[in-house]
Amino acid sequence: RQSCNARGEVLPLAAPLRSASGALDFESDHSDDEGKRGSARLPQPTSRTHLRSPSVVSLVPAEPSRCEWDALYEPSELDLTPPAPAKGCNVYVRLRPESVDEIAQGGELAASVQPSQRDIHVQMREPGCIEPKLVQHRFTMDRVFDMNTTQEDFFGSTAASLVQPIVEGFSASVLAYGQTGAGKTYTMIGAHGAEETARDQAKAAKDPVTRGLIPRLIERLFKTLRKFDSSARFSVRCSFIEIYNEHVRDLLTPVKANLKIREAPDKGLIVTNATEVPIADTEESIGVIKQGTANRMQAETSRNQHSSRSHAVFVLTLRRENLDDCSFRVSQVYLVDLAGSEKLSKTEVQSQERLRESTTINQSLLALGNVISALTKQQHHNNSHTSHARGTTAHTHPAAMPHVPYRDSKLTRLLQNSFGGRSYCTVILCCSPHSHNARETIATLRFGDRANKIHNKPEANA
Ligand code: ADP
Ligand code: MG
Repeated sequence: RQSCNARGEVLPLAAPLRSASGALDFESDHSDDEGKRGSARLPQPTSRTHLRSPSVVSLVPAEPSRCEWDALYEPSELDLTPPAPAKGCNVYVRLRPESVDEIAQGGELAASVQPSQRDIHVQMREPGCIEPKLVQHRFTMDRVFDMNTTQEDFFGSTAASLVQPIVEGFSASVLAYGQTGAGKTYTMIGAHGAEETARDQAKAAKDPVTRGLIPRLIERLFKTLRKFDSSARFSVRCSFIEIYNEHVRDLLTPVKANLKIREAPDKGLIVTNATEVPIADTEESIGVIKQGTANRMQAETSRNQHSSRSHAVFVLTLRRENLDDCSFRVSQVYLVDLAGSEKLSKTEVQSQERLRESTTINQSLLALGNVISALTKQQHHNNSHTSHARGTTAHTHPAAMPHVPYRDSKLTRLLQNSFGGRSYCTVILCCSPHSHNARETIATLRFGDRANKIHNKPEANA
């Protein structure tokens, strides 16, 4: 891609510089010594190529000439970042293709996406008076994606719209929910094949076709930051933790176990002592994913040899500093690959360790379900309060605002500022399409149905 100056001369773009620490440091495409309109953007002299702290993406644009705008306008790239989602909380369904095991087991496809792309029907055999009967369960979500949806299309139609609000200072969370083997890790990170290992997952995160939502979101975020049209400086940091048996573990420095969650001034909720890595591009974030995935606890269950019984939480922190008034905003983004939502049957629970795993994981997911219910009740409360204020029943006491039990589990405590209320939240329901998993698919969709009733009013962080 090339640009041109006011006289129409084609100019080379400023290349990213590698700082002493190895992190990339960017000069704005529009940078201009005295901020003069339309001055030539020649390769920067050494006095301009000062090194800033690692991971600081500094964009100090002068207003470009008309000609520069024209040269920079690339519809396909500009349109990459869709506007913020209309709803504060969005719930999407993603069906994965049938697995080899499912095909071998026989049975049939039980889930079907309806032409509206918002409705999904799932058929399940249920006991009847005389013989089992086929019952159809119907759900409506914000969008349902069929088994042929590519990673690119899925991301483009879901989390891509969070990038703009994140840059503007909103917090957000994306949660992948579903039974083990339903495609949560594939969706969030990207993965090849059934015999996936941590190394395969990291490879898939790198693969431009199969890479999942986390690397794509980071890639889009950096693209947006580079185009940012104001006097602002950004820094991006990430950490990767897991919640396992209600203990928070650092996935980047595994010796750090049982970390504490606390509220920090200016930063919101943080995991104390969790390793925070500054990143300056997608490749650096993939390095972090690779390291964290390799350390993620994998436990064997009879359902899926490598199913994970932990919640993996990738935390992205964006700090935006406005250079005109030195104010700053911090957006936190929680990208969560939740543990399998299935209930383990007694035969599957082979050891005490497994028993403890299954109960605490369900407790965490139960807490998440309770938080979702409380958020919808809050919404209902606010609506009825508004109608009170309009004056029909002036003498009745308004009921207390329902309490949201964020503190009931480590997972919900961590998500306190980024899930519900003033943030954007996205729930991805990962489902198998197969009749053998219809019960779990319906349970997943019921969970999503509750989340779909949340109506947040996102506000940018002060
Ligand atoms: P989970 O994390 O929910 O336990 P995985 O993401 O590990 O499930 O997915 C299980 C298997 O299904 C993996 O082999 C994965 O590569 C495959 N898979 C999941 N979703 C898709 C998809 N949309 N397209 C192709 N393969 C998928
Ligand atoms: Mg997984």
